[in-house]
Amino acid sequence: MTGRDPGEDDRHRADRLAAVVEFSGDAIISSTVDGVITSWNRAAESLFGYSSQEILGRPGILLSPRNRVAETASVMARVRAGEVVEDLDSIRVRKDGTEFPVSVTVAPIRDEAGTVVGVTSIPRDMTERKQAIAAAQRMAAIVENSVDAIIAKTLDGIITSWNPAAERLYGYRSEEIIGKSLFLLVPEDRVAESRTILARISAGQRVERLETSRVRKNGTEFPVSLTVSAILDEHDVVVGVSAIARDVTEQKAAFEAAQRMAAIVENSEDAIIGATLEGIITSWNPAAERMYGYGSEEIIGQPGKLLLPGGRASDMNAILAVNRAGGHVERVEATRVRKDGTTITVSISLSPIRGPDDAIVGISTIARDVTEQQKAAQNARRLTAAADLVHNVMASASFGIALADPNGSCRVVNRSLCDILGYDEAWILAHGLRDFVHPDDLERTLQNRARAIAGTADKNATKGRLVRADGATIWVRLVMVPIPGGDGEPDLLMTQVEDITAEHEAQEALAYHALHDPLTGLYNRAWIMDALEADLRAAKRGGTSVGALLVDLDHFNVVNDSLGHGAGDEVMTCVADRIVAVLNPGDRLGRFGGDSFVILVQDVHDVQDVEQCAGRVSGSIAADLQVQGHRIVPTASIGIAVSTPTCTPESLLRDTDSALSRAKAAGGARWQFFDDAMHAQAVARLTVEDQLRDAISRGEFVVYYQPIVALPDAHVVGHEALVRWEHPTRGLLSPADFLDVAEDSALINAIGAQVLDQVCTLLAQRPDLPGPISVNISAVQLAAPSWLDTVTNTITAHRVDPARLVVEVTETAVLSLTDSALAALESLRGLGVGIHLDDFGTGYSSISVLRDLPVTGVKLDLRFVHDLTTGPSQANALAHGLSGLVNGMHLTGIAEGVETPMQASILRAQGWRLGQGYYFGRPAPMPATDQSPDDDRIA
Ligand code: C2E
Ligand code: CA
Ligand code: CA
Repeated sequence: MTGRDPGEDDRHRADRLAAVVEFSGDAIISSTVDGVITSWNRAAESLFGYSSQEILGRPGILLSPRNRVAETASVMARVRAGEVVEDLDSIRVRKDGTEFPVSVTVAPIRDEAGTVVGVTSIPRDMTERKQAIAAAQRMAAIVENSVDAIIAKTLDGIITSWNPAAERLYGYRSEEIIGKSLFLLVPEDRVAESRTILARISAGQRVERLETSRVRKNGTEFPVSLTVSAILDEHDVVVGVSAIARDVTEQKAAFEAAQRMAAIVENSEDAIIGATLEGIITSWNPAAERMYGYGSEEIIGQPGKLLLPGGRASDMNAILAVNRAGGHVERVEATRVRKDGTTITVSISLSPIRGPDDAIVGISTIARDVTEQQKAAQNARRLTAAADLVHNVMASASFGIALADPNGSCRVVNRSLCDILGYDEAWILAHGLRDFVHPDDLERTLQNRARAIAGTADKNATKGRLVRADGATIWVRLVMVPIPGGDGEPDLLMTQVEDITAEHEAQEALAYHALHDPLTGLYNRAWIMDALEADLRAAKRGGTSVGALLVDLDHFNVVNDSLGHGAGDEVMTCVADRIVAVLNPGDRLGRFGGDSFVILVQDVHDVQDVEQCAGRVSGSIAADLQVQGHRIVPTASIGIAVSTPTCTPESLLRDTDSALSRAKAAGGARWQFFDDAMHAQAVARLTVEDQLRDAISRGEFVVYYQPIVALPDAHVVGHEALVRWEHPTRGLLSPADFLDVAEDSALINAIGAQVLDQVCTLLAQRPDLPGPISVNISAVQLAAPSWLDTVTNTITAHRVDPARLVVEVTETAVLSLTDSALAALESLRGLGVGIHLDDFGTGYSSISVLRDLPVTGVKLDLRFVHDLTTGPSQANALAHGLSGLVNGMHLTGIAEGVETPMQASILRAQGWRLGQGYYFGRPAPMPATDQSPDDDRIA
């Protein structure tokens, strides 16, 4: 460096300058215009690391980095041209090679003439400044970009800085808030707190953290988390306060949400369980305790596998794998085991639990016990199936079905019901019972319905009538069944409707036929007997009587036989109408088959009433009648009986029957009361019947034998078996005393069987007996289906030659022979049994009977024999004629009842060869042996 004043002062000034340079805080470097360094002060030494000795005389370019060489050259050129370059930011290099930022000022050095002779460079180290600026810039950037509001203020609370986050948080822009009091931001109830904090910071406290609240420009208050710090100067003196404010509305909401969540978890119906990824249980709510039976203290820390049924861990592992991968498992049904070992079905949902860094740290499980639900679901499935079934059944049912709610309106009806009623479904659904139940049945139907709903109805179907759309009345069978509703559903009433109109009509017809006579439409015997029984009871209660009239047309068979059954029917119908016309109300009329009617007169106080009825009836019947061109005057005989308190329907009608017989016997066309005498007879007859039964069982019947002899010499040719009753009190009784009763009661069958058995026993014992034994058979026996078997079995059992047996059948019995009785006689004849026609001559039998029947002989009725000597000569002629007929047909002829030698000689003269009668021998028990000679045989 050189000064323009070379004088003493100049020199002095130059020295002083040199000293200033030498000790300057800045590095001061001089160089020639070519850049060779000529001076280097202490500050330059410390800045660059070169000592003066090392650097003086060397090119200044050493101090610039390579990439700054061009810049340095250009600066040198400008300075050589006289320019001063101030505060140029550049880079320099130290001796150790490190680069550092500088702010350099380069100025020319001129001589006295003003010519540039050198260059002075003053580089200032900018390293610290740069760093401070960078730090300040970074800080500013942080403050600018902070999500937190960062506010600076003085110790008096005057706001000095305000970042964008503060603008967003509080709503004030920085220009409107800076310079204002921070108390603008503080709610009234927080001002004291705020002052306290400022005081503490002023007093030396560095940092204060607190949760408080602040107010926005728009007046809304919000929760805030504040960090308040002291701002210190370089001497650590507190010069201000900075506050970092964070809006914690969300956190607070999140916290409250978490609290609520915790409450929900606590109170949840569902088990909520937390577990680690390894399956160790970390949380366990009360519902889980209830559901699984474990208390939280015993289960937390245990593996969740405890809850799995044996061998199902793999299922859980699969689910855990899903969770570890961040997936959710929604409502999977699984089986779990409770602490007590029972199993439950649970629906579980699993979600991953994420930590703060979003990493999955565990699994939360929500489990709901669906055991009941599952059962309910199964039930629902069953119900659905049942509903389908019901639907199908209804659709295909042949009977009508209606489902109605309790107030009676139909909800569902099936096709068949529509068909039965003739209405379509919509009509039925829109109408009620009243619209199609028959008015007369409505009340009863409603009652039945109420009972069905109440469950008190019996399960039986009821019958009722419905009215069809076409107005026709139909009969239906109704079954009402209450169907319980589901939860909250009302009960339904199912009604089954079956059209039984045809059945009903058939039943009606059947009932009619069962109780009515098809010809006249009158009641039949069954109905009359029932009515009589009821009437007798009523009469007994009322102290009255029932009058019964048995009305029998006289000679009705004449009409039938001569004009045919059609005519007979016509007469019956007409008579029925005539009787009906004269009956009083309450009188009952029935037809008892054949030509008889029964009339019941109720409430009889006086027998006269009944007699008047008989008079009206017989008067009405006895009027002219035209049948098929013939004029007929029908007459009727009437037997009348009036009940006594001990009467039964049967006994009363038997009395009318007796009375009728007497009316008939008296010539008909009259009525006859059943009187006391008749009653006594009837009683006796009943007694006989009872005794007969006993006699049969005790074997009181014995057989007497009367010899049949040859008329010329009276030698025995056979016997007739005649039954006797050895009555225990009345002695030996003849058939006349009991035969009527035995025949009426059919006891004759049993008696006849005993007689035949005794006869066959005798025949078997007495092979020496002359001729056959004749046994009497009544018409009742012949008609009995078992008779033939009885005869053949008895003959076989005793090993009797059938030819030693003759059966005697009366002429009248033969005339009424049935086909089977005829066949029985034929087969007996086929066996060799003889068949004689008894009481011959009394029945006007024709010759054709003798020819057509398997008859082997006849017995001339004893009346002819009696009349031979005392009666009209006509009988004599007839007996003579009959002998000719019998002999002509090669039949055996026996004259019965021969009591005198005269009779015997006349008969022999007339041609009769055999005889029987007291003259030859009375009926008597057969002795064990008989020596009488056996000449002729009769068969
Ligand atoms: P019937 O077949 O005409 O028998 C002859 C009846 O005349 C017998 O009466 C007999 O005792 C009787 N009699 C015989 N000789 C004379 C005589 O010289 N003078 C008179 N006045 N009577 C004589 P009985 O034994 O009282 O039998 C009456 C009727 O009872 C029989 O008439 C016969 O029809 C029937 N009867 C007898 N035994 C039986 C029997 O075992 N079964 C059946 N079904 N009927 C029998
Ligand atoms: Ca006989
Ligand atoms: Ca006879």
